[in-house]
Amino acid sequence: MVDLAAAPADLLLTGGPITTIDATRRTAEALAVRGGRIAAIGQARDLRALVGPRTRVIDLGGRMVLPGFQDAHIHPTHGGLGRLRCGLNDVTGGAEAVVGHIREYADAHPDLPWILGSGWYMADFPGGTPSRELLDRILPDRPAFLTNRDGHGAWVNSRALELAGIDRDTSDPEHGRIERTPDGEPQGTLHEGSMDLVQRILPPTTPDEMERALREAQAYLHSLGITAWQDAWIEEGDDGAYLTLAERGELTARVVGALWWDRNGGLEQVEALIARRDRGAVGRYATTSVKLMLDGVCENFTAAMLEPYLGADGRPSDNAGFDFIDPALLAEAVTRLDAAGMQPHFHCIGDRAVRNALDSVEAARRANGWSDTRPHIAHIQLIHPDDLPRFRALRVVANAQPYWACHEAQMDDLTIPFLGPERTGWQYPYASLRRAGAQLAMGSDWAVSTADPLLEMEVAVRRVSDEDRDAPPFLPEERLDLAEALEAFTIGSAFVNHLDDRTGSLEVGKQADLIVLDRDLFASDAGPIGDARVLLTLIEGETVFEDPAIG
Ligand SMILES: [Zn+2]
Repeated sequence: MVDLAAAPADLLLTGGPITTIDATRRTAEALAVRGGRIAAIGQARDLRALVGPRTRVIDLGGRMVLPGFQDAHIHPTHGGLGRLRCGLNDVTGGAEAVVGHIREYADAHPDLPWILGSGWYMADFPGGTPSRELLDRILPDRPAFLTNRDGHGAWVNSRALELAGIDRDTSDPEHGRIERTPDGEPQGTLHEGSMDLVQRILPPTTPDEMERALREAQAYLHSLGITAWQDAWIEEGDDGAYLTLAERGELTARVVGALWWDRNGGLEQVEALIARRDRGAVGRYATTSVKLMLDGVCENFTAAMLEPYLGADGRPSDNAGFDFIDPALLAEAVTRLDAAGMQPHFHCIGDRAVRNALDSVEAARRANGWSDTRPHIAHIQLIHPDDLPRFRALRVVANAQPYWACHEAQMDDLTIPFLGPERTGWQYPYASLRRAGAQLAMGSDWAVSTADPLLEMEVAVRRVSDEDRDAPPFLPEERLDLAEALEAFTIGSAFVNHLDDRTGSLEVGKQADLIVLDRDLFASDAGPIGDARVLLTLIEGETVFEDPAIG
């Protein structure tokens, strides 16, 4: 099978397991790369013939080779800015530690007019709503605006509220809520659309900052083995950063951008979105997808539910969340986008949002017939059992963010009590989706959650948080096996990005987008999946990340 007359390989990885994720789930011993493509896969002794004087040979010594990970829902510019600004994602130790970290950051940046940051965790604060007083103590004069880990709420101090003109007389905007103290004063947390009241007075992020953020994010994601992604929220500034890097040849990742659908607008935006797609790909960047955000999140009762949330007394409330996009408008928008060959990328948390998304694809299928736009629904926290078979029937990809599928404070204290037992059991139903024949893809939603695919896959496989590995699993019947999780994070996400013909599995002729881990994840002594490390990341045969430990 190896053409001995062929030119020598540029790289030979040998002593594998080479986990191909091809249709037969084959594992091989060795893989050769030539001219950016996979030249051969097979037995070590056969591929030795491809070693020439300039071939780099890496002895794997049992360490695993995989296709590069592809993240089907991620926010790299946001995550990169978070790494450049006051990043709170990794702060542990509760509210005091978070405030201490903000104080340190503010002290280290005395010239910044605003303290901007992200990544605080709702469960660190009573009711998930940190107060302005906590910030006022350390920032009495400088305004602060800090978004939480999921980006659906912001924490501000009194100075920021004052500059934004928010006081007890300010009414809640249509898609948001100003958290208030019992006497009606703004409390310091802004939910959903009410964040705009402050966001619109923030100093604008400069193009230079956006480019630095994207470069920072890209290097970080390559170090985690990520070779391609779908950016789930492209606005003007993100687009500019991608185009600049792509034009300079600095964009090494393959990126599909999902253009943001303005949920306050209507069908008039369809033409503009198509026009932006039609400018074509620049380097490895193309904007062929449209992000439609259909609802909020459960923790603040803005996810769209088929039945109302339960109140604190355990009885149905009168709130079933919001439809961010009217279902009739949505069906028409998706039909038109699909007809133009654009991919719908939905954000759906609640079961009503999922149903609205599926209904809109059904309308598009009825009007347009089968298209190859590969609609996908991200997050899929709550799926009504009646809707599980519709993913396969309508060819809608289930785009899972598995890191959330475990018992942790946000789930146990802020979600389960307000869903009740039946709906609690409908959450993140990955195994049920598989059984129903759905195509699965995976992503992180970074900077909402960790960007590390290995940590995310650990939760998909165990349904236990890596931060509390002895906790009971959350709905263990919905666990995936490791091979299924790897498939979703490689070929599954490649399918979403229309990259599966070139990447996503290790097959001769495909592009050499691949990674080497520090261990074989299938070995009996591998330890927790999330403890594994990436040692080498290649895109089209080029090294974009290398740990000296690769040897
Ligand atoms: Zn997202």
